[in-house]
Amino acid sequence: MDLKVAKFGGTSMATATSINQVADIVKSDAGRNYVVVSAPGKRSKNDIKVTDLLYSCFYDLEIKGECKENFAKIRDRFTGIVEELGLKFDINPYLDKVEEEMIKFHSSEYCASRGEYLSAVVMAQKLGYEFVDAKDIMVFSQEGVFMPEETNKKVAEKLSVIKKAVIPGFYGADELGVIHTFSRGGSDVSGAVVARAVNAKLYENWTDVNGFMVTDPRIVENPQQISMLSYKELRELSYMGANVLHPDSIFPVRVSNIPINIKNTFEPSNAGTMIVSAMPKEIIDKRAVTGIAGKKGYSIIFIAKAMMNNEIAFVRKVLSALEYYNVSVEHIPSGIDTMSVVVADSEIAGKEDAIIEKIRAAVSPDAIELKRGIALIATVGHGMAFKPGCSAKLCTALANAKINIRMLDQGASELNIIVGVSDSDYENAVKAIYHAFY
Ligand code: ADP
Ligand code: ASP
Ligand code: MG
Repeated sequence: MDLKVAKFGGTSMATATSINQVADIVKSDAGRNYVVVSAPGKRSKNDIKVTDLLYSCFYDLEIKGECKENFAKIRDRFTGIVEELGLKFDINPYLDKVEEEMIKFHSSEYCASRGEYLSAVVMAQKLGYEFVDAKDIMVFSQEGVFMPEETNKKVAEKLSVIKKAVIPGFYGADELGVIHTFSRGGSDVSGAVVARAVNAKLYENWTDVNGFMVTDPRIVENPQQISMLSYKELRELSYMGANVLHPDSIFPVRVSNIPINIKNTFEPSNAGTMIVSAMPKEIIDKRAVTGIAGKKGYSIIFIAKAMMNNEIAFVRKVLSALEYYNVSVEHIPSGIDTMSVVVADSEIAGKEDAIIEKIRAAVSPDAIELKRGIALIATVGHGMAFKPGCSAKLCTALANAKINIRMLDQGASELNIIVGVSDSDYENAVKAIYHAFY
């Protein structure tokens, strides 16, 4: 039986009914020995994820010094789940300890991590598997930076003597035992880390959709499902907002070429999406565009100066000004006398004027302007490199939909074309590109 690591996301862990389905899935394959779980997610559209309730507890503690009301909601969810599952096990002592330590440690990362912790405690009881705490095997530095090699060693060592285990996703600890978390959605990374360490044949990522769709199903109704995707395409798409899988999930599995299979807990017979290191040539030949993803919340710093191209180190000076303010840059499309720097709004918030002044002082441009309200859309596919006319098709589709392209950048690998459009055009632009290629 092939060894598999199965990670189950928030919707899969949201209710006793879904947890029963998870247990059936795990038990139906003798190779599913290591299970990684998220905190319970939303039960319905307007519900609140346990992780969000935990962050609220932290803010309550900051402001009021107590978090009784929000913690009571968390307690209700877990006691309700345990009762409905019919488990003969009392979760209240675990909840009491968590509540006590949240007040004692006063750390947002500690608070946020407890959803996964409690979720894994319950799942281990349900499956009869051993509970292995992520704090003992997932290593972070004291600054909160994840340490992949140290972690790999620890996880491999620990799990070499445990045949079947449930491990909470999303967090780990530093050498002092202080809890740190990945960024949001990080249980996907935890699952990939475990898959690498136990040398799994497959990393299964169980979620609430039938795999990766060509684009966001919340924008395009019933988009086509992608049967196979490469690690590189996945990285581009998830970084640009296709949040099915955390963008950092590929790093651990890439080391050992472990494929990822996205599967639907609520429709387990669907084959889902396979994510592999190298894409078969037949698929590349057949398909130009693999997927389309995007995000709002960007700005363009537009800089014009005559003869800019002749000025030595012009780009470096602009980038140094941004580095001074600790701003990371997304794209730098440029012309002969113009240059645009695309940055996330979150990177420049509160320091916009200072950044513009710093650039002005560094390169004395003829004009400099900050254009707000930009959405970026990435159209991704290995097949685009071999097929002429992809950019033309994409631009025509946007023109026909009366959408103005504010920025265009084609990656050197020809794996992606990025366009910037106004926030208000975002959804229509995604639809127009989708329908042009599908
Ligand atoms: P989980 O809690 O299982 O980790 P997530 O909510 O993180 O699940 O990711 C699954 C969700 O990602 C889907 O419910 C869907 O709304 C969203 N999504 C965004 N883009 C895509 C896409 N291209 N294909 C499929 N789902 C997508
Ligand atoms: N529970 C965490 C979050 O909501 C991590 C995860 O679900 O992957 O972001
Ligand atoms: Mg997720």
